[in-house]
Amino acid sequence: MKYVFVTGGVLSSVGKGIVTSSIGKILQSAGSSVSSVKMDPYVNVDAGTMNPYQHGEVFVTQDGGETDLDLGHYERFLDIELSKHANITTGLVYKRVIEKERKGDYLGQTVQIIPHVVDEIKDLLLDYGRSLDIDVLTVEIGGTVGDIESLPFLEAIRQFRMEQGYDNTLFVHVPLVPELKSTGETKTKPAQHSVQELRRIGVQPDVIVARSARLLDEASRAKLALFTSVPKEAIFTSYDVSSIYQVPLILDEQGLGAYVERRLSLANRRRSLDPGLKRWREFVERVVEPDGEVTIALVGKYTALPDAYLSISEALVHAAAWIRLRVHIKWLRAETLEETASLAEAFRDIHGIMVLPGFGRRGTEGKVKAIHYARTSSTAFLGICFGMQLSVVEFARNVLGLKGANSTENDEECAHPVVDLLPEQGNVTSKGGTMRLGGYPVILSRPSKIFDLYGEDVINERHRHRYEVNPKYIRSLIDAGMNITGVSESGGRVEVIELPGHPYFIATQFHPEFKSRPLRPSPPYLGFVIAAARAAGVPTRPVLPGKGGVKETRWSQ
Ligand code: GLN
Repeated sequence: MKYVFVTGGVLSSVGKGIVTSSIGKILQSAGSSVSSVKMDPYVNVDAGTMNPYQHGEVFVTQDGGETDLDLGHYERFLDIELSKHANITTGLVYKRVIEKERKGDYLGQTVQIIPHVVDEIKDLLLDYGRSLDIDVLTVEIGGTVGDIESLPFLEAIRQFRMEQGYDNTLFVHVPLVPELKSTGETKTKPAQHSVQELRRIGVQPDVIVARSARLLDEASRAKLALFTSVPKEAIFTSYDVSSIYQVPLILDEQGLGAYVERRLSLANRRRSLDPGLKRWREFVERVVEPDGEVTIALVGKYTALPDAYLSISEALVHAAAWIRLRVHIKWLRAETLEETASLAEAFRDIHGIMVLPGFGRRGTEGKVKAIHYARTSSTAFLGICFGMQLSVVEFARNVLGLKGANSTENDEECAHPVVDLLPEQGNVTSKGGTMRLGGYPVILSRPSKIFDLYGEDVINERHRHRYEVNPKYIRSLIDAGMNITGVSESGGRVEVIELPGHPYFIATQFHPEFKSRPLRPSPPYLGFVIAAARAAGVPTRPVLPGKGGVKETRWSQ
Protein backbone atom coordinates (compact mmCIF):
# COMPACT_ATOMS: atom_id res chain seq x y z
CA MET A 1 0.00 0.00 0.00
CA LYS A 2 1.14 3.52 -0.77
CA TYR A 3 0.83 6.53 1.51
CA VAL A 4 0.53 10.10 0.28
CA PHE A 5 1.15 12.61 3.08
CA VAL A 6 -0.06 16.18 2.64
CA THR A 7 1.24 19.06 4.76
CA GLY A 8 0.36 22.74 4.59
CA GLY A 9 2.61 25.77 4.66
CA VAL A 10 2.57 29.52 5.26
CA LEU A 11 -1.09 29.85 6.28
CA SER A 12 -3.94 27.65 7.37
CA SER A 13 -7.10 27.40 5.26
CA VAL A 14 -5.22 27.26 1.96
CA GLY A 15 -7.42 24.43 0.75
CA LYS A 16 -5.26 21.48 1.73
CA GLY A 17 -8.36 19.34 2.17
CA ILE A 18 -9.44 20.04 -1.39
CA VAL A 19 -5.95 19.36 -2.74
CA THR A 20 -5.79 16.09 -0.78
CA SER A 21 -9.22 15.04 -2.05
CA SER A 22 -8.24 16.03 -5.57
CA ILE A 23 -5.05 13.96 -5.55
CA GLY A 24 -7.15 11.03 -4.36
CA LYS A 25 -9.72 11.66 -7.08
CA ILE A 26 -7.09 11.77 -9.82
CA LEU A 27 -5.48 8.52 -8.68
CA GLN A 28 -8.89 6.91 -8.33
CA SER A 29 -9.88 7.87 -11.86
CA ALA A 30 -6.69 6.22 -13.09
CA GLY A 31 -7.68 2.94 -11.46
CA SER A 32 -6.25 3.00 -7.93
CA SER A 33 -8.55 2.42 -5.03
CA VAL A 34 -8.10 5.25 -2.58
CA SER A 35 -9.08 6.17 0.95
CA SER A 36 -8.16 9.06 3.21
CA VAL A 37 -7.15 9.93 6.74
CA LYS A 38 -7.09 13.33 8.44
CA MET A 39 -4.70 13.94 11.30
CA ASP A 40 -5.69 16.90 13.43
CA PRO A 41 -3.19 18.40 15.85
CA TYR A 42 -5.81 19.78 18.25
CA VAL A 43 -6.18 18.24 21.71
CA ASN A 44 -9.93 17.57 21.46
CA VAL A 45 -10.50 13.83 21.20
CA ASP A 46 -12.87 14.48 18.32
CA ALA A 47 -14.52 17.46 16.65
CA GLY A 48 -17.89 16.82 18.30
CA THR A 49 -17.51 19.24 21.18
CA MET A 50 -16.20 22.12 19.10
CA ASN A 51 -18.19 25.23 18.32
CA PRO A 52 -18.72 25.43 14.54
CA TYR A 53 -17.16 28.90 14.53
CA GLN A 54 -13.89 27.26 15.61
CA HIS A 55 -13.57 24.58 13.00
CA GLY A 56 -16.57 24.59 10.72
CA GLU A 57 -19.11 21.82 10.64
CA VAL A 58 -18.83 18.53 12.47
CA PHE A 59 -18.97 15.80 9.85
CA VAL A 60 -20.77 12.65 10.98
CA THR A 61 -19.56 9.32 9.61
CA GLN A 62 -21.77 6.30 9.01
CA ASP A 63 -20.31 4.59 12.11
CA GLY A 64 -21.18 7.58 14.27
CA GLY A 65 -17.88 9.47 14.43
CA GLU A 66 -18.02 13.25 14.92
CA THR A 67 -15.16 14.28 12.72
CA ASP A 68 -13.36 17.07 10.93
CA LEU A 69 -15.12 18.57 7.93
CA ASP A 70 -12.33 17.44 5.60
CA LEU A 71 -13.70 13.90 5.88
CA GLY A 72 -16.77 15.26 4.14
CA HIS A 73 -14.62 16.45 1.23
CA TYR A 74 -12.96 13.03 0.99
CA GLU A 75 -16.30 11.23 1.00
CA ARG A 76 -17.77 13.56 -1.61
CA PHE A 77 -14.78 13.64 -3.96
CA LEU A 78 -14.03 9.93 -3.75
CA ASP A 79 -17.60 8.71 -3.30
CA ILE A 80 -16.51 6.47 -0.44
CA GLU A 81 -17.69 5.91 3.11
CA LEU A 82 -15.12 6.59 5.82
CA SER A 83 -15.02 5.29 9.35
CA LYS A 84 -14.46 7.39 12.43
CA HIS A 85 -10.96 5.91 12.58
CA ALA A 86 -10.11 8.05 9.57
CA ASN A 87 -9.76 11.06 11.88
CA ILE A 88 -6.79 10.92 14.23
CA THR A 89 -6.42 13.82 16.66
CA THR A 90 -3.75 14.67 19.21
CA GLY A 91 -6.42 14.19 21.88
CA LEU A 92 -7.13 10.66 20.69
CA VAL A 93 -3.44 9.76 20.51
CA TYR A 94 -2.74 11.06 24.02
CA LYS A 95 -5.86 9.39 25.38
CA ARG A 96 -4.63 6.04 24.10
CA VAL A 97 -1.09 6.56 25.37
CA ILE A 98 -2.33 7.56 28.82
CA GLU A 99 -4.71 4.60 28.96
CA LYS A 100 -1.81 2.28 28.14
CA GLU A 101 0.37 3.93 30.75
CA ARG A 102 -2.34 3.50 33.41
CA LYS A 103 -2.71 -0.15 32.50
CA GLY A 104 1.01 -0.60 32.94
CA ASP A 105 1.64 -1.50 29.30
CA TYR A 106 4.87 0.51 29.18
CA LEU A 107 6.50 -1.74 31.77
CA GLY A 108 8.10 0.92 33.91
CA GLN A 109 9.46 3.08 31.10
CA THR A 110 9.39 6.88 31.12
CA VAL A 111 6.60 7.66 28.65
CA GLN A 112 7.74 10.27 26.12
CA ILE A 113 6.70 12.04 22.94
CA ILE A 114 9.44 10.11 21.17
CA PRO A 115 9.06 7.16 20.98
CA HIS A 116 5.69 6.55 22.63
CA VAL A 117 3.42 9.26 21.27
CA VAL A 118 4.96 9.10 17.81
CA ASP A 119 4.74 5.29 17.80
CA GLU A 120 1.07 5.53 18.70
CA ILE A 121 0.47 7.80 15.69
CA LYS A 122 2.25 5.39 13.36
CA ASP A 123 0.41 2.40 14.82
CA LEU A 124 -2.97 4.06 14.46
CA LEU A 125 -2.18 4.86 10.84
CA LEU A 126 -0.80 1.43 9.99
CA ASP A 127 -3.64 -0.42 11.70
CA TYR A 128 -6.17 1.70 9.90
CA GLY A 129 -4.40 1.38 6.54
CA ARG A 130 -4.19 -2.40 6.91
CA SER A 131 -7.87 -2.66 7.73
CA LEU A 132 -8.67 -1.35 4.23
CA ASP A 133 -8.24 -3.17 0.96
CA ILE A 134 -6.91 -0.25 -1.05
CA ASP A 135 -3.93 0.89 -3.11
CA VAL A 136 -3.39 4.40 -1.80
CA LEU A 137 -4.11 6.10 1.51
CA THR A 138 -3.91 9.89 1.48
CA VAL A 139 -3.02 11.33 4.88
CA GLU A 140 -3.61 15.03 5.43
CA ILE A 141 -1.94 16.66 8.40
CA GLY A 142 -3.99 19.53 9.75
CA GLY A 143 -2.49 22.86 10.73
CA THR A 144 0.56 24.52 9.26
CA VAL A 145 4.19 23.45 9.24
CA GLY A 146 5.89 25.35 12.04
CA ASP A 147 3.10 24.86 14.59
CA ILE A 148 4.33 23.33 17.84
CA GLU A 149 1.37 20.99 18.01
CA SER A 150 1.91 19.36 14.64
CA LEU A 151 5.53 18.34 15.36
CA PRO A 152 4.78 14.80 16.61
CA PHE A 153 2.78 14.12 13.42
CA LEU A 154 5.61 15.34 11.20
CA GLU A 155 8.10 13.26 13.14
CA ALA A 156 5.78 10.28 12.69
CA ILE A 157 5.68 10.66 8.91
CA ARG A 158 9.47 11.06 8.79
CA GLN A 159 9.85 7.75 10.59
CA PHE A 160 7.06 6.23 8.55
CA ARG A 161 9.07 6.74 5.38
CA MET A 162 12.12 5.07 6.90
CA GLU A 163 10.04 2.07 7.89
CA GLN A 164 7.75 1.75 4.85
CA GLY A 165 10.24 2.81 2.20
CA TYR A 166 10.70 5.65 -0.23
CA ASP A 167 8.74 3.89 -2.99
CA ASN A 168 5.68 3.56 -0.78
CA THR A 169 5.50 7.10 0.57
CA LEU A 170 5.08 10.50 -0.98
CA PHE A 171 5.33 13.87 0.74
CA VAL A 172 3.22 16.62 -0.79
CA HIS A 173 3.53 20.16 0.54
CA VAL A 174 0.82 22.77 -0.06
CA PRO A 175 2.08 26.30 0.67
CA LEU A 176 0.45 29.60 -0.14
CA VAL A 177 2.26 31.53 -2.87
CA PRO A 178 0.93 35.08 -2.60
CA GLU A 179 0.78 37.69 -5.32
CA LEU A 180 1.54 41.31 -4.52
CA LYS A 181 -1.42 43.42 -5.56
CA SER A 182 0.56 46.54 -6.39
CA THR A 183 3.11 44.90 -8.70
CA GLY A 184 1.31 41.70 -9.64
CA GLU A 185 4.46 39.82 -8.61
CA THR A 186 4.32 36.23 -7.36
CA LYS A 187 6.29 35.73 -4.16
CA THR A 188 7.78 32.32 -3.49
CA LYS A 189 9.77 33.28 -0.40
CA PRO A 190 7.19 32.21 2.22
CA ALA A 191 6.92 28.83 0.48
CA GLN A 192 10.72 28.50 0.49
CA HIS A 193 10.73 29.14 4.22
CA SER A 194 8.02 26.66 4.93
CA VAL A 195 9.92 23.96 3.01
CA GLN A 196 13.04 24.87 5.00
CA GLU A 197 11.04 24.40 8.17
CA LEU A 198 9.91 20.97 6.99
CA ARG A 199 13.46 19.99 6.10
CA ARG A 200 14.71 21.11 9.49
CA ILE A 201 12.70 18.24 10.95
CA GLY A 202 13.81 15.84 8.27
CA VAL A 203 10.96 15.89 5.78
CA GLN A 204 11.96 16.75 2.20
CA PRO A 205 8.82 17.22 0.10
CA ASP A 206 8.58 15.26 -3.14
CA VAL A 207 5.82 17.35 -4.66
CA ILE A 208 4.71 20.95 -4.15
CA VAL A 209 1.18 22.07 -4.89
CA ALA A 210 1.38 25.84 -4.65
CA ARG A 211 -1.84 27.54 -3.66
CA SER A 212 -1.94 30.71 -5.69
CA ALA A 213 -4.33 33.04 -7.44
CA ARG A 214 -2.94 32.11 -10.84
CA LEU A 215 -1.00 29.29 -12.48
CA LEU A 216 2.65 29.75 -11.47
CA ASP A 217 4.83 30.75 -14.39
CA GLU A 218 8.03 28.96 -15.39
CA ALA A 219 10.23 31.45 -13.59
CA SER A 220 8.45 31.04 -10.26
CA ARG A 221 8.49 27.28 -10.57
CA ALA A 222 12.19 27.32 -11.42
CA LYS A 223 12.89 29.49 -8.41
CA LEU A 224 10.86 27.28 -6.09
CA ALA A 225 12.60 24.20 -7.49
CA LEU A 226 16.03 25.73 -6.92
CA PHE A 227 15.36 26.66 -3.32
CA THR A 228 13.36 23.61 -2.27
CA SER A 229 15.16 20.83 -4.18
CA VAL A 230 11.80 19.70 -5.55
CA PRO A 231 12.09 19.01 -9.31
CA LYS A 232 10.35 21.58 -11.45
CA GLU A 233 8.07 18.95 -12.99
CA ALA A 234 6.87 18.11 -9.48
CA ILE A 235 5.65 21.66 -8.80
CA PHE A 236 1.98 22.23 -9.54
CA THR A 237 -0.48 25.06 -8.85
CA SER A 238 -3.87 24.91 -7.26
CA TYR A 239 -5.04 28.24 -8.63
CA ASP A 240 -8.31 30.08 -7.99
CA VAL A 241 -11.33 28.47 -9.63
CA SER A 242 -15.02 29.11 -9.19
CA SER A 243 -15.86 25.61 -7.90
CA ILE A 244 -13.83 23.34 -5.61
CA TYR A 245 -14.80 20.45 -7.90
CA GLN A 246 -12.59 21.91 -10.65
CA VAL A 247 -9.42 21.32 -8.63
CA PRO A 248 -8.90 17.64 -9.66
CA LEU A 249 -9.26 18.72 -13.28
CA ILE A 250 -6.77 21.59 -13.15
CA LEU A 251 -4.20 19.53 -11.25
CA ASP A 252 -4.56 16.62 -13.63
CA GLU A 253 -4.12 18.93 -16.63
CA GLN A 254 -0.77 19.95 -15.18
CA GLY A 255 0.31 16.32 -15.05
CA LEU A 256 0.06 15.70 -11.32
CA GLY A 257 -1.61 12.31 -11.72
CA ALA A 258 0.98 11.00 -14.15
CA TYR A 259 3.82 12.23 -11.94
CA VAL A 260 2.49 10.61 -8.76
CA GLU A 261 1.67 7.37 -10.59
CA ARG A 262 5.21 7.12 -11.89
CA ARG A 263 6.77 8.03 -8.58
CA LEU A 264 4.72 5.42 -6.69
CA SER A 265 4.65 2.86 -9.55
CA LEU A 266 0.86 2.87 -9.50
CA ALA A 267 -0.03 2.41 -13.15
CA ASN A 268 -3.14 0.47 -14.13
CA ARG A 269 -4.08 -1.25 -10.95
CA ARG A 270 -7.83 -1.72 -11.30
CA ARG A 271 -10.64 -0.82 -13.59
CA SER A 272 -11.50 2.85 -13.27
CA LEU A 273 -15.12 3.79 -12.73
CA ASP A 274 -14.53 7.15 -14.34
CA PRO A 275 -11.59 6.99 -16.73
CA GLY A 276 -10.20 10.39 -17.59
CA LEU A 277 -12.62 11.96 -15.08
CA LYS A 278 -15.19 12.14 -17.87
CA ARG A 279 -18.29 12.02 -15.70
CA TRP A 280 -16.68 14.28 -13.15
CA ARG A 281 -15.94 16.82 -15.89
CA GLU A 282 -19.55 16.72 -17.04
CA PHE A 283 -20.68 17.37 -13.47
CA VAL A 284 -18.25 20.29 -13.18
CA GLU A 285 -19.59 21.74 -16.42
CA ARG A 286 -23.10 21.66 -15.00
CA VAL A 287 -21.86 23.41 -11.86
CA VAL A 288 -19.88 26.07 -13.65
CA GLU A 289 -22.27 26.75 -16.52
CA PRO A 290 -25.80 26.13 -15.27
CA ASP A 291 -28.98 26.85 -17.21
CA GLY A 292 -30.40 29.03 -14.45
CA GLU A 293 -30.49 29.84 -10.78
CA VAL A 294 -32.74 29.49 -7.74
CA THR A 295 -32.37 31.39 -4.49
CA ILE A 296 -32.52 29.48 -1.23
CA ALA A 297 -32.58 31.03 2.24
CA LEU A 298 -30.65 29.12 4.89
CA VAL A 299 -31.73 30.03 8.41
CA GLY A 300 -29.29 29.15 11.16
CA LYS A 301 -27.27 30.29 14.12
CA TYR A 302 -23.75 30.25 12.65
CA THR A 303 -24.52 31.81 9.29
CA ALA A 304 -21.53 34.16 9.42
CA LEU A 305 -19.31 31.15 8.68
CA PRO A 306 -20.68 29.13 5.76
CA ASP A 307 -18.22 26.30 6.61
CA ALA A 308 -20.42 25.65 9.65
CA TYR A 309 -22.95 24.12 7.23
CA LEU A 310 -20.58 22.80 4.58
CA SER A 311 -22.25 19.47 3.82
CA ILE A 312 -25.60 21.24 3.46
CA SER A 313 -24.37 23.83 0.98
CA GLU A 314 -22.55 21.10 -0.96
CA ALA A 315 -25.69 18.93 -1.00
CA LEU A 316 -27.50 21.90 -2.57
CA VAL A 317 -24.76 22.21 -5.20
CA HIS A 318 -25.08 18.50 -6.09
CA ALA A 319 -28.88 18.58 -6.24
CA ALA A 320 -28.95 21.76 -8.32
CA ALA A 321 -26.31 20.43 -10.74
CA TRP A 322 -28.49 17.39 -11.35
CA ILE A 323 -31.11 19.65 -12.87
CA ARG A 324 -28.50 22.01 -14.39
CA LEU A 325 -29.15 24.85 -12.01
CA ARG A 326 -27.09 26.84 -9.57
CA VAL A 327 -28.25 27.61 -6.06
CA HIS A 328 -27.76 31.11 -4.84
CA ILE A 329 -27.65 30.95 -1.04
CA LYS A 330 -28.96 33.74 1.13
CA TRP A 331 -27.69 33.22 4.68
CA LEU A 332 -30.13 34.43 7.33
CA ARG A 333 -29.18 34.65 10.96
CA ALA A 334 -31.99 33.20 13.06
CA GLU A 335 -31.57 35.78 15.82
CA THR A 336 -31.96 38.63 13.37
CA LEU A 337 -35.21 37.12 12.11
CA GLU A 338 -36.57 37.28 15.66
CA GLU A 339 -36.63 41.07 15.38
CA THR A 340 -37.68 41.26 11.75
CA ALA A 341 -41.09 42.86 11.41
CA SER A 342 -41.84 41.75 7.86
CA LEU A 343 -40.94 38.19 6.97
CA ALA A 344 -42.32 38.70 3.48
CA GLU A 345 -39.62 41.34 3.12
CA ALA A 346 -36.88 39.07 4.55
CA PHE A 347 -37.88 36.27 2.19
CA ARG A 348 -38.49 38.40 -0.89
CA ASP A 349 -37.21 36.70 -4.09
CA ILE A 350 -36.55 33.49 -2.16
CA HIS A 351 -37.67 30.24 -3.80
CA GLY A 352 -37.00 27.86 -0.93
CA ILE A 353 -36.30 28.00 2.78
CA MET A 354 -34.18 25.67 4.88
CA VAL A 355 -34.02 25.68 8.66
CA LEU A 356 -30.65 24.28 9.61
CA PRO A 357 -29.53 21.91 12.36
CA GLY A 358 -28.53 23.46 15.65
CA PHE A 359 -28.23 23.30 19.38
CA GLY A 360 -29.49 25.53 22.16
CA ARG A 361 -32.13 28.14 22.59
CA ARG A 362 -30.52 31.17 20.98
CA GLY A 363 -32.26 32.10 17.73
CA THR A 364 -34.91 29.38 17.95
CA GLU A 365 -37.86 31.78 17.81
CA GLY A 366 -36.44 33.22 14.58
CA LYS A 367 -36.34 29.71 13.17
CA VAL A 368 -39.93 29.07 14.23
CA LYS A 369 -40.96 32.30 12.48
CA ALA A 370 -39.23 31.19 9.30
CA ILE A 371 -41.02 27.83 9.44
CA HIS A 372 -44.35 29.55 10.00
CA TYR A 373 -43.72 31.73 6.98
CA ALA A 374 -42.73 28.75 4.78
CA ARG A 375 -45.78 26.76 5.86
CA THR A 376 -48.34 29.51 5.43
CA SER A 377 -46.91 31.03 2.24
CA SER A 378 -46.48 27.63 0.52
CA THR A 379 -42.76 28.27 0.06
CA ALA A 380 -40.70 25.11 -0.55
CA PHE A 381 -39.27 24.05 2.80
CA LEU A 382 -36.68 21.60 4.03
CA GLY A 383 -35.96 21.29 7.75
CA ILE A 384 -33.02 19.29 9.04
CA CYS A 385 -32.80 17.84 12.57
CA PHE A 386 -33.40 20.87 14.81
CA GLY A 387 -35.22 22.26 11.76
CA MET A 388 -37.61 19.30 11.95
CA GLN A 389 -38.05 19.52 15.70
CA LEU A 390 -38.92 23.21 15.43
CA SER A 391 -41.35 22.47 12.59
CA VAL A 392 -43.21 20.26 15.04
CA VAL A 393 -43.11 23.07 17.60
CA GLU A 394 -44.50 25.56 15.08
CA PHE A 395 -47.25 23.16 14.01
CA ALA A 396 -48.18 22.34 17.60
CA ARG A 397 -48.45 26.01 18.50
CA ASN A 398 -50.26 27.30 15.45
CA VAL A 399 -52.25 24.38 14.06
CA LEU A 400 -52.90 22.29 17.15
CA GLY A 401 -53.28 25.45 19.20
CA LEU A 402 -50.99 24.27 21.99
CA LYS A 403 -49.85 27.49 23.62
CA GLY A 404 -46.37 27.16 25.06
CA ALA A 405 -45.41 24.17 22.92
CA ASN A 406 -41.65 23.89 22.70
CA SER A 407 -38.65 21.60 22.85
CA THR A 408 -37.36 20.97 26.35
CA GLU A 409 -33.96 21.88 24.94
CA ASN A 410 -35.23 25.47 24.74
CA ASP A 411 -37.47 25.52 27.77
CA GLU A 412 -37.46 22.71 30.28
CA GLU A 413 -40.63 23.96 31.92
CA CYS A 414 -42.69 24.57 28.78
CA ALA A 415 -46.41 23.78 28.92
CA HIS A 416 -46.26 21.29 26.01
CA PRO A 417 -42.94 19.51 25.55
CA VAL A 418 -43.62 18.34 22.00
CA VAL A 419 -39.90 17.70 21.55
CA ASP A 420 -38.14 16.04 24.43
CA LEU A 421 -34.92 14.29 25.39
CA LEU A 422 -34.47 10.81 23.90
CA PRO A 423 -35.23 8.33 26.69
CA GLU A 424 -31.72 6.83 26.53
CA GLN A 425 -30.24 10.32 27.05
CA GLY A 426 -31.75 10.70 30.49
CA ASN A 427 -28.63 9.89 32.47
CA VAL A 428 -26.06 11.17 30.02
CA THR A 429 -24.01 14.02 31.45
CA SER A 430 -20.85 14.19 29.38
CA LYS A 431 -21.05 15.90 26.00
CA GLY A 432 -18.45 14.15 23.82
CA GLY A 433 -19.72 11.35 21.57
CA THR A 434 -22.90 10.76 23.56
CA MET A 435 -25.67 11.73 21.13
CA ARG A 436 -27.62 9.35 18.89
CA LEU A 437 -24.95 9.29 16.22
CA GLY A 438 -24.43 7.82 12.77
CA GLY A 439 -26.38 5.68 10.37
CA TYR A 440 -29.70 4.13 11.39
CA PRO A 441 -32.44 2.65 9.25
CA VAL A 442 -35.52 4.74 8.60
CA ILE A 443 -38.79 3.16 7.49
CA LEU A 444 -40.70 5.23 4.94
CA SER A 445 -44.44 4.98 4.50
CA ARG A 446 -46.39 5.17 1.25
CA PRO A 447 -47.84 7.09 -0.32
CA SER A 448 -45.55 9.96 0.54
CA LYS A 449 -43.27 12.44 -1.12
CA ILE A 450 -40.29 11.09 0.75
CA PHE A 451 -40.95 7.58 -0.57
CA ASP A 452 -41.27 8.93 -4.11
CA LEU A 453 -37.93 10.63 -3.68
CA TYR A 454 -36.01 7.65 -2.31
CA GLY A 455 -37.97 4.91 -4.04
CA GLU A 456 -37.25 2.54 -1.17
CA ASP A 457 -39.18 1.45 1.87
CA VAL A 458 -36.14 1.32 4.11
CA ILE A 459 -33.33 3.83 3.85
CA ASN A 460 -30.30 4.46 6.02
CA GLU A 461 -29.26 7.98 6.93
CA ARG A 462 -26.96 9.59 9.48
CA HIS A 463 -28.05 11.16 12.75
CA ARG A 464 -26.73 13.52 15.40
CA HIS A 465 -29.25 14.41 18.05
CA ARG A 466 -30.24 14.18 21.70
CA TYR A 467 -33.91 15.15 21.37
CA GLU A 468 -36.87 13.69 19.48
CA VAL A 469 -40.55 14.31 18.84
CA ASN A 470 -42.30 13.42 22.07
CA PRO A 471 -44.25 10.18 21.40
CA LYS A 472 -47.10 11.44 23.60
CA TYR A 473 -47.98 14.10 21.02
CA ILE A 474 -47.74 12.00 17.86
CA ARG A 475 -51.45 11.09 17.78
CA SER A 476 -52.61 14.70 18.05
CA LEU A 477 -50.10 15.88 15.45
CA ILE A 478 -51.42 13.32 12.98
CA ASP A 479 -55.03 14.14 13.80
CA ALA A 480 -54.32 17.80 13.13
CA GLY A 481 -53.04 16.95 9.64
CA MET A 482 -49.31 16.36 9.92
CA ASN A 483 -48.06 13.32 8.00
CA ILE A 484 -45.39 11.28 9.70
CA THR A 485 -43.83 9.52 6.74
CA GLY A 486 -40.64 8.14 8.21
CA VAL A 487 -40.00 6.40 11.51
CA SER A 488 -37.19 4.52 13.21
CA GLU A 489 -36.97 0.75 13.03
CA SER A 490 -38.82 0.28 16.29
CA GLY A 491 -41.51 2.58 14.94
CA GLY A 492 -41.28 4.80 17.98
CA ARG A 493 -39.20 7.68 16.66
CA VAL A 494 -40.33 10.28 14.21
CA GLU A 495 -37.80 10.58 11.40
CA VAL A 496 -39.69 12.43 8.63
CA ILE A 497 -42.66 14.78 8.63
CA GLU A 498 -44.54 16.19 5.65
CA LEU A 499 -47.44 18.57 5.30
CA PRO A 500 -50.08 17.53 2.77
CA GLY A 501 -51.41 20.24 0.50
CA HIS A 502 -48.12 22.14 0.60
CA PRO A 503 -45.95 22.15 -2.55
CA TYR A 504 -42.93 20.86 -0.61
CA PHE A 505 -42.74 20.79 3.16
CA ILE A 506 -40.44 18.03 4.33
CA ALA A 507 -38.38 17.87 7.48
CA THR A 508 -36.10 15.08 8.59
CA GLN A 509 -34.66 14.13 11.95
CA PHE A 510 -31.63 12.72 10.10
CA HIS A 511 -29.03 14.62 8.10
CA PRO A 512 -29.32 13.51 4.46
CA GLU A 513 -26.57 15.96 3.44
CA PHE A 514 -23.85 13.68 4.78
CA LYS A 515 -24.56 11.13 2.07
CA SER A 516 -24.96 13.55 -0.82
CA ARG A 517 -22.43 13.07 -3.63
CA PRO A 518 -21.67 15.11 -6.75
CA LEU A 519 -23.05 12.38 -9.02
CA ARG A 520 -25.61 11.05 -6.56
CA PRO A 521 -27.56 13.93 -5.04
CA SER A 522 -29.48 13.37 -1.83
CA PRO A 523 -33.19 12.73 -2.55
CA PRO A 524 -34.73 15.23 -0.08
CA TYR A 525 -32.37 17.96 -1.34
CA LEU A 526 -33.15 17.13 -4.95
CA GLY A 527 -36.89 17.24 -4.34
CA PHE A 528 -36.45 20.53 -2.53
CA VAL A 529 -34.42 22.18 -5.29
CA ILE A 530 -36.88 20.93 -7.92
CA ALA A 531 -39.76 22.46 -5.91
CA ALA A 532 -37.84 25.73 -5.57
CA ALA A 533 -37.17 25.78 -9.31
CA ARG A 534 -40.88 25.30 -9.97
CA ALA A 535 -41.68 28.20 -7.68
CA ALA A 536 -39.10 30.32 -9.48
CA GLY A 537 -40.50 29.32 -12.88
CA VAL A 538 -37.04 28.10 -13.95
CA PRO A 539 -37.13 25.16 -16.35
CA THR A 540 -35.06 22.16 -15.30
CA ARG A 541 -33.28 19.61 -17.47
CA PRO A 542 -32.48 16.57 -15.35
CA VAL A 543 -29.25 14.75 -16.16
CA LEU A 544 -31.17 11.61 -17.07
CA PRO A 545 -33.66 12.93 -19.62
CA GLY A 546 -37.29 12.31 -18.86
CA LYS A 547 -36.59 11.52 -15.25
CA GLY A 548 -37.43 14.21 -12.77
CA GLY A 549 -34.38 13.11 -10.91
CA VAL A 550 -36.11 11.31 -8.11
CA LYS A 551 -36.01 7.54 -7.53
CA GLU A 552 -33.79 6.97 -10.56
CA THR A 553 -30.86 8.91 -9.17
CA ARG A 554 -29.76 5.95 -7.12
CA TRP A 555 -28.81 4.13 -10.28
CA SER A 556 -27.30 7.10 -12.00
CA GLN A 557 -23.80 6.17 -10.95
N1 GLN B 1 -30.42 20.09 19.30
C1 GLN B 1 -31.20 19.07 18.70
C2 GLN B 1 -30.97 17.72 19.34
O1 GLN B 1 -30.01 17.51 20.03
C3 GLN B 1 -30.95 18.99 17.21
C4 GLN B 1 -29.58 18.57 16.85
C5 GLN B 1 -29.22 18.86 15.42
O2 GLN B 1 -29.84 19.69 14.79
N2 GLN B 1 -28.17 18.22 14.92
O3 GLN B 1 -31.73 16.81 19.16
